[in-house]
Amino acid sequence: SEDFSPDQKRYLEGFVSGVQAIRGARGAPGFGGLAPFQNQPAANAPQAEPVPAGPDAIHIEAMARFEKAGKKLSPQEKAKRDEHPFDAYARFKTMAAENKYAKQLDDFRIRFHGLFYVGPTQDSYMCRLRIHNGVLKAWQFRGVADLAEAYGGGYSHVTTRANLQVREINAQNGIPFIEGLVDIGLTSKGSGADNIRNITGTPTAGVDPQELVDTRPYAREWHHHILNDRSLYGLPRKFNVAFDGAGRIAALEDTNDIGFQAVEVKDGFGIEAGVWWRLALGGVTGHRDFARDTGVIVPLAQAIKVADAIVRVFIASGDRTDRNKARLKYVLDAWGFGTFLGEVEKQLDAKLVRAPAEAVAPRPESDRLAHIGVHPQKQSGLNWIGVGLNLGRMDCAQMRALADISQEFGDGDIRLTVWQNLLISGVRDEDVAEVEARIAAIGLATTASNVRAGLVACTGNRGCKFSAADTKGFADMIATHIDGVGLTVDTPINIHATGCHNSCAQHYIGDIGLIGARVPVGEDDSVDGFHLHVGGGFGTDAAIGRELVQNVRGEDCPAVVEKMLRGYLARRSGPDETFA
Ligand code: SF4
Repeated sequence: SEDFSPDQKRYLEGFVSGVQAIRGARGAPGFGGLAPFQNQPAANAPQAEPVPAGPDAIHIEAMARFEKAGKKLSPQEKAKRDEHPFDAYARFKTMAAENKYAKQLDDFRIRFHGLFYVGPTQDSYMCRLRIHNGVLKAWQFRGVADLAEAYGGGYSHVTTRANLQVREINAQNGIPFIEGLVDIGLTSKGSGADNIRNITGTPTAGVDPQELVDTRPYAREWHHHILNDRSLYGLPRKFNVAFDGAGRIAALEDTNDIGFQAVEVKDGFGIEAGVWWRLALGGVTGHRDFARDTGVIVPLAQAIKVADAIVRVFIASGDRTDRNKARLKYVLDAWGFGTFLGEVEKQLDAKLVRAPAEAVAPRPESDRLAHIGVHPQKQSGLNWIGVGLNLGRMDCAQMRALADISQEFGDGDIRLTVWQNLLISGVRDEDVAEVEARIAAIGLATTASNVRAGLVACTGNRGCKFSAADTKGFADMIATHIDGVGLTVDTPINIHATGCHNSCAQHYIGDIGLIGARVPVGEDDSVDGFHLHVGGGFGTDAAIGRELVQNVRGEDCPAVVEKMLRGYLARRSGPDETFA
């Protein structure tokens, strides 16, 4: 009725679609629960096409289009349609009570809840959290330590999406762990499988002297937007979104499906001058592609609306049959930006703003070493202190001690970075020495060689069945060896070790990138090893590394990397010539 206000109409529409979803669910469970609830038709009456309804409808319709075209859905798509993973929660609770793991397609479904069965490598679950912008409160950090001790292996890792993972959670403890997270104001919902992953942002947001935008409110709003809209789960494939506020520590937004980059628009181009988001799309470095500049700029306050529209176009268009081609990049490759952005505009029912490249001021450069050590904040007399972790790992005692330090000397925030470490912010000048001493006392460092500071490694074969090598172990061996032989690299250098083509540690963007390989030895044996890449980069130096040499045994990598670094130092024209 026209008598209703827009808000009332929205509410009623939501109510009606909810009722339709429930009616549909009576026909069949999960995504497939779409048959409208109606009286049984007469035996010879023509069968009406089932009409999708409710929050899952856009997914069902997309799947149906592939099937109508005679294509076969991937098993994961069928699994989502047969039983929506959120509807399986009670079943997962029963399995936990019976001490059974969710395996095969249930392993896929339980990833919607943030639990991953990681057998046979470890016969246990790994839980990946969601921490928007990578910032959590010290008391939450302590709470994660308590949960990791009670239900997991007694340690956690900072991930390459500025997030936390806890491993060695047994079958009985999976559900208590994720419910415990909710009790402390955190969640793991949607952190795995075909969902929008943890929202990253500039780790120094709000304290960074050079930032253009404090990314925290945007990451937070998008986080809650996703969490509370079921239609935004169960995408064709995983989906990454990042907000980079142009601070000193890179958020690697150009490796995301959507990268919002804070930029300054200059006067004189017929566009309101000031700070906007520049929209970059289609990053997936494991597939050798960075997010590309679309030429679109977005008012700061419109970021969530635009991201929502992009995701909905992707839901309708992404490949549901071949998971290797199901990322946003492939829709963009097939359609081109023009068509894709046109669909986004239809979804938004509004025009996007285009800005010529010359209207955008150059962005402030990031500092590749600002995530380690003491750095002055924009608030006079305060500092952030970057704590080095051994490839992201901390035990629970260290986590509690860091929480204590943050509460006693800092602003109570723990800030995780995509460089697998964390920052303690808000430390007064006069407390810096004490904080550094306390961090040293728990076996962690606030200084690191450039090689150690730029070292990134995925889980590797200690905890991931896909890995061909012990990435963390060999990455650590490389840094220990370089530091041990007294080789000083006086420019920033990134070494990224990843275990498989999924490239969780983004080997293609490292100055030196390693991807795990089984290296043949003798007639029919093989050992852990790597193919080595060089020349990757990110941000203004964005480049995909090129393969240099194949099948280097893991134990030989430290010496090979030493040679590469010595070669660079000996032959460069001067310290301004980067490794790349
Ligand atoms: Fe596992 Fe591969 Fe990701 Fe490493 S890159 S954590 S091996 S999936």
